[in-house]
Amino acid sequence: PVRVRIAPSPTGEPHVGTAYIALFNYLFAKKNNGTFILRIEDTDATRSTPEFEEKVLDALKWCGLTWAEGPDIGGPYGPYRQSDRKDMYQPYAQELLDKGHAFRCFCTPERLEQMREAQRAAGKPPKYDGHCLNLSAEEVTARVAAGEPSVIRMKIPTEGSCDFTDGVYGDVSIPWDSVDMQVLIKADGMPTYHMANVIDDHLMKITHVARGEEWLASVPKHILLYRYFGWDEPVFMHLSLMRNADKSKLSKRKNPTSISYYSALGYLPEALMNFLGLFFIQIAEGEEMLTMDELIAKFDPDNLSKAGAIFDVQKLDWLNGRWLREKLDADQFVARVLDWAMENSRLIEGLKLSQSRISRLGELPSLAGFLLAGDVGLSPASFAGLKTSPAETLEILNAVQADLEKLVEWNVEAIDGALRGVADSLGKKLRVVTPPLFVAVSGSSRSLPLFDSMALLGRSVVRQRLKIATG
Ligand code: ATP
Ligand code: GLU
Repeated sequence: PVRVRIAPSPTGEPHVGTAYIALFNYLFAKKNNGTFILRIEDTDATRSTPEFEEKVLDALKWCGLTWAEGPDIGGPYGPYRQSDRKDMYQPYAQELLDKGHAFRCFCTPERLEQMREAQRAAGKPPKYDGHCLNLSAEEVTARVAAGEPSVIRMKIPTEGSCDFTDGVYGDVSIPWDSVDMQVLIKADGMPTYHMANVIDDHLMKITHVARGEEWLASVPKHILLYRYFGWDEPVFMHLSLMRNADKSKLSKRKNPTSISYYSALGYLPEALMNFLGLFFIQIAEGEEMLTMDELIAKFDPDNLSKAGAIFDVQKLDWLNGRWLREKLDADQFVARVLDWAMENSRLIEGLKLSQSRISRLGELPSLAGFLLAGDVGLSPASFAGLKTSPAETLEILNAVQADLEKLVEWNVEAIDGALRGVADSLGKKLRVVTPPLFVAVSGSSRSLPLFDSMALLGRSVVRQRLKIATG
């Protein structure tokens, strides 16, 4: 039976790329009467958080991509969160050491950095040089006993190439000498992505691995691990990444990429799934409007769409508009608007901020509407009433834009700190710096408190509006 998975790493705002890959797997499962599961890959303990994990589950649920097994509901092959499986990986690492397929490496981060530096200087791609490959068993035992930190690396063949057939790409050949002796277990005992991913896919009986093409180059490491363990490998399918209109890899600098950006602005999940689903199926013009059931019916993994996956927001807008007009009757439409409003934390928090600033409820749309808009219709005239000159306004907005990008956390305190920093570096008062930003973010000079609004709007929207204001 077909078993597929989406395996997100909870290291940031849930990405539309994750929804795109998840949708493919979901369609693949439905088409084949298979099972779609969710596994959380949080082996990168420094970047993974429970908050992002909750967000990714919520985002995929919002998309309607329900899983049959996962960290929230369990299942026969759990746990479904890699940090909860930490102890399961150790015996497999030991097995590879015992069979001579892996080795302990004691190289310090400093030595590795020097090595890479030298390789870079020689114009070679960085790759482990095998310094610890041939240590004697006695030496390894003694150094481990002495408490010296070490990692476990996999051995890689020195000759030939790894040849495999990818379900999307077809035949692929990657020379072994381009493959690194990948770390499998880190010094703290945590497995790396590669180790945990292969073991879990095997233990969870995954039959098809469909993921972004950025993982294609990792397939040799994965195939080799399957062979070392004597396991059957799954079918690999690497999907082309979504791209910006200029064909570069979809990036948040050019297009909002967080799923919550689209849900907060009032895109229907059905329309977003319809839009993403069109990247997988071949249809004639005029047949673009498809429900999930219709996507499943038309989905054929052997005949994937040949068009590049360009994330064209105008097309998404067009589809979403059609969904609103054609797929909902008037009562359903009103019910959807009200549901959206009730679940929209941006709106609800915005209303709270509005309470002390209005004398009639009817003022709310003009006061708080900017929190829900895509863009706020900025034009040079929007900035005309400011005390700063156009050149000064632009200087301020550029500086703000650059400094906000450096923020790790996105909240009122962090934004406040960044703007004070900008004011200092420009030698201006904070009250000179904020009015241009007020207009850029809200489209008007009279609105809700700036820092709270920016925190509520989130990084992608603020980034988007500053881009328009400075563009
Ligand atoms: P950005 O380039 O905007 O910073 P990113 O590459 O940092 O994005 P990640 O957080 O690394 O994004 O990726 C999150 C998930 O989204 C991963 O599973 C990745 O495969 C997927 N993803 C990222 N970019 C794309 C894309 N352009 N197309 C499809 N999937 C993508
Ligand atoms: N955790 C990986 C990611 O976030 C999963 C890659 C895979 O599916 O193997 O992209």
